Amino acid sequence: MFPSELLSFLRTAERVAVLTGAGVSAESGVPTFRDAQTGLWASYDPAQLATPDAFRRNPALVWDWYAYRRALIAAARPNPAHYALAEMEALFPDFSLITQNIDALHRAAGSRAIIELHGNIRRVKCAECGKTASAWDDSREKPPRCEHCGGLLRPDVVWFGESLPPDALQRAMEAAERAQVFFSIGTSAVVEPAASLPRMARRKGALLVEINPEATPITPLADYALRGKAGEILPALLEAMTRRQSLRK
Ligand code: NAD
Ligand code: ZN
Repeated sequence: MFPSELLSFLRTAERVAVLTGAGVSAESGVPTFRDAQTGLWASYDPAQLATPDAFRRNPALVWDWYAYRRALIAAARPNPAHYALAEMEALFPDFSLITQNIDALHRAAGSRAIIELHGNIRRVKCAECGKTASAWDDSREKPPRCEHCGGLLRPDVVWFGESLPPDALQRAMEAAERAQVFFSIGTSAVVEPAASLPRMARRKGALLVEINPEATPITPLADYALRGKAGEILPALLEAMTRRQSLRK
């Protein structure tokens, strides 16, 4: 099922970096932005809700939308793609898992070397002073206010048009630059600067592997474009890699 050159390259690789996007959590029931809007939220465009402008115009609406997404995420469990990535961390001496997801499902599956590029929906931060918190009370006021400065609380996630946490971005770029194999999984590869990471890795000589049911702007650069669901392909790839490894011993 997998090309033997890919398997033998993976068998000997020491430095591996992975970029994941919303597609990796789709099989856990956390919809991608494209598939997100159902029911009450059907008429809203996420690209118009996940922005600083939207929050300035209507903070209560944005707060409610995130409360809805947070509830979806709270009910979600890691899927076989998350578990396969957690197992891969143990196979390679230098392994970095760079994620654009804000759902913390990689951590729930056991991954530890995680670089969160877009924050985490389980935290909030003050829109004024930036202090973060992981507990809050929105029963009286939505959004609730910061206990330090009285500013409005917002989810601690990166919105469209905002910059990424510099430390996480730096570590992600370093991981991409030293990787021998770079996986781009379940991401549409259009949101910058995350979308530049596969390109950067490829330029530095990494083998680029994409896992996605659909083509993306980085497909033409990929050495291997594995078409299908991450939750099916990743466990099969892991199995094929380790089966060959034990045969070799
Ligand atoms: P995206 O929604 O732009 O793209 C999702 C990609 O996943 C698409 O290319 C799609 O073809 C692919 N996909 C769908 N099902 C898949 C599956 N089963 N296996 C593999 N791939 C699959 O997502 P993005 O590239 O992550 O960028 C959107 C932004 O939205 C990010 O900034 C992210 O922070 C945010 N977001 C996060 C979550 C989450 O935390 N789970 C969910 C939605 C959006
Ligand atoms: Zn504050």
